Amino acid sequence: MRLHEFPRYPLTFGPSPIHHLKRVSGHLGGAQVWAKREDVNSGLAYGGNKIRKLEYLVPDILESGADVLVSIGGYQSNHTRQVAAVAAHLGLQCRLVQETWVPWEDPTNSQVGNILLSRMMGADSRLDDAGFDIGIRDSWKQALEEVEASGGRPYAIPAGASEHRLGGLGFANWAFEVAEQEKALGVVFDTIVVCTVTGSTHAGMIAGFAALEDLTGITRRVIGIDASATIQKTRDQVGRIARHTAELIELGRELRDDEIEVLDGWAGELYGLPVDSTMEAMSLAARLEAMITDPVYEGKSFAGLIDLVRTGEISADSNVLYAHLGGQPALNAYHRLWDPDASPL
Ligand code: PLP
Repeated sequence: MRLHEFPRYPLTFGPSPIHHLKRVSGHLGGAQVWAKREDVNSGLAYGGNKIRKLEYLVPDILESGADVLVSIGGYQSNHTRQVAAVAAHLGLQCRLVQETWVPWEDPTNSQVGNILLSRMMGADSRLDDAGFDIGIRDSWKQALEEVEASGGRPYAIPAGASEHRLGGLGFANWAFEVAEQEKALGVVFDTIVVCTVTGSTHAGMIAGFAALEDLTGITRRVIGIDASATIQKTRDQVGRIARHTAELIELGRELRDDEIEVLDGWAGELYGLPVDSTMEAMSLAARLEAMITDPVYEGKSFAGLIDLVRTGEISADSNVLYAHLGGQPALNAYHRLWDPDASPL
């Protein structure tokens, strides 16, 4: 099937806005930096990148006859919040496994931000003490069994919706949306920068931009910035999902190795914990553009973008598009980062 033939259930406002980050561009003194804002893409619980992925899962969910969406993430998972939002929107129940992905010793971590919103939307959100892993988890399989045992019909959505067969389609379509917006803006983005952890956002973009390249002849760099701190797993997962998605949308050729570019250097030692470059990037985006980023994902990918522009690795004549994927609700659990009276990290 071609991409436009896959059923898509609308959950977004329409194309997400693109705008020029003029002050950041001026400050960095190199490439022109623009942002495409998935953090304001939907009215469902503040939106985010998973809403786009879920647009392609919902037809399958509805067809399956399921009545409970079952998913998994960390305490402050943006993904599980968006699954809870879609469940509420569709009138389904939601069962969430929230694992201890981040050693962030703040009592609010399991109480505020994303987890608070999920609970407000009626999700049955339960804490689990397993650590970070982007793979398929036992706790999640157990949740599925429990739902079945209690008479529910579960629909399984893996972490980040990435290991789902249709998980890459939302961002394959994003590539075509960008191409339409480029015509209206009169700009061509030769470089895209995106945060990658469970992989299907970046992987979907790779497949989508490959299809677009075959139609238009325009080659672009789609750079994933790893925020998982498990770079090899992320590279493997992005490559695998990109190839699967390319096949699904009938790209008709193998992806080249140079089309799959995941960079490390900004994740720090551990998923979920900011490092100096994260803090600098978050401050810069906030102070120069009032663009709010989080310490888990977007602060890290923006730090990557800053360095790549500063060093000229992204050249000064480039137009670079930063994919802002959301994530701000988690900031509540990280209030200490900006508390002048808090002890240092
Ligand atoms: N940015 C935000 C705000 C996220 O919630 C996620 C989710 O994991 C990502 C980036 C990474 O996206 P993906 O898991 O598809 O690699």
